[in-house]
Amino acid sequence: MSAFDDLYAANEKFAESFGSSGLTGRAARGLAVVTCMDSRIDPLGLLGLKPGDAKILRNAGARVTDDVLRTLVLAVVLLGVERVLVMPHTDCGMAKVTDADVHRLAGERGIDTRSIDFHTVPDQNEALKHDLTRIRTFPFLPKEMPVGGAIYDVHTGRLTPSDH
Ligand SMILES: [Zn+2]
Repeated sequence: MSAFDDLYAANEKFAESFGSSGLTGRAARGLAVVTCMDSRIDPLGLLGLKPGDAKILRNAGARVTDDVLRTLVLAVVLLGVERVLVMPHTDCGMAKVTDADVHRLAGERGIDTRSIDFHTVPDQNEALKHDLTRIRTFPFLPKEMPVGGAIYDVHTGRLTPSDH
């Protein structure tokens, strides 16, 4: 028994009915979505997408980190991405704690996390504005590329586009 047996068993069933989709690794809808790791978010479902349509980049808080920027450059240069939607969500755990809180909680487990910037979100609106600006001004991405932001409401399923 491993901690992953349930998953491997489920995949056996999945693979039985899997016909090669013929998809390539390019984003068929020319889209990249940056969203949170929150388990309530179904990025494809809520945007009317299917596998093959979009690059989905997920991390804690849907933050535009250096690695997200690196991935976006690759997605544009190699994988057909022509537009980016940054999609944080309501009731996000990252908006409920500060970096200091995380350091303290980790410290209680004997783990010193002070060398890590967790990019917690004191103000979701400001964080989204900051993150959109980071993409729009990043010198290695096309200046004319559409970059949008929208907040996903995990309780209604509704997406609210931001003005930023
Ligand atoms: Zn979240």
